[in-house]
Amino acid sequence: MQGLMDLNGRVAIITGGNSGIGLGMAKGLAAAGASLVIAGRNAQKNATAGQALRALGAQVLAVEADVTQEADCCGLIERTLAHFGRLDILINNAGTNIRKPPQDYTLDEWRTMMDTNLTSAFLCSKAAYPALVAAGGGKIINTGSMTSLFGAGFAAPYSASKGGIVQLSKSLASAWAKDNIQVNAILPGWIDTDLTRQARKDLPGLHERVLARTPAARWGVLEDFAGIAIFLASRASDFVTGTAIPVDGGYSAQA
Ligand code: NDP
Repeated sequence: MQGLMDLNGRVAIITGGNSGIGLGMAKGLAAAGASLVIAGRNAQKNATAGQALRALGAQVLAVEADVTQEADCCGLIERTLAHFGRLDILINNAGTNIRKPPQDYTLDEWRTMMDTNLTSAFLCSKAAYPALVAAGGGKIINTGSMTSLFGAGFAAPYSASKGGIVQLSKSLASAWAKDNIQVNAILPGWIDTDLTRQARKDLPGLHERVLARTPAARWGVLEDFAGIAIFLASRASDFVTGTAIPVDGGYSAQA
């Protein structure tokens, strides 16, 4: 049992690791001893998050990267290998949302959401694969959503991209099990982050609806993501692959 969740000597990339859920997962991995690479477009957010993670004792490389760009995804893996010499864990968590009725989206908006939320996970996973194989195996964690399970009339492209995350996770899990790579998705409920602070402005009554619908009767917080990240990134989950695990205070458990 000892060391089952120990991540000392392991190197993890977290896209969108500079804020919100990604930072919550990064803090969990830091507590378990992992070295971290956090990636986001905003250099200031990267620097601030890097500082917070270093204060927890982690070694941290912050990389400015736009995960909608294949060159940036490949560069992220190259920078990781150049700095830390290995890669064991990839968390595809970067995401965005634009909320409006389906008929009002432009093709560019649709593509932005698919590229940011889904294609990025494919590109980073593809770029990471040789390094994970070289490490003797690894872990990929993809961030889905409640909209991986349910439709959302106010977020059709987001929903489509997050549904795709679950099927991509299952497919990568099936293909790469032979390489000792486990691939799983987490499905956050409603979590208090920058993304949902905007949603609360856009969608009147959302706050009250979330409280009423969530059995835990609260919004999720970043600390709720530390444990699931450690579990899915560590030996503790070596026979868990192709799953999509809600982290939602029971939101998806009731009609
Ligand atoms: P945040 O806005 O706090 O985090 C989004 C992160 O994604 C930021 O770190 C941002 O960094 C990064 N990001 C966005 N676009 C890009 C890009 N093109 N390239 C690189 N990084 C990018 O929101 P959350 O923490 O809430 O969101 C994290 C994930 O969780 C997303 O996938 C979201 O869909 C998902 N989720 C959130 C829920 C919630 O209730 N909050 C519920 C279900 C799922 P930067 O700005 O520096 O690029």
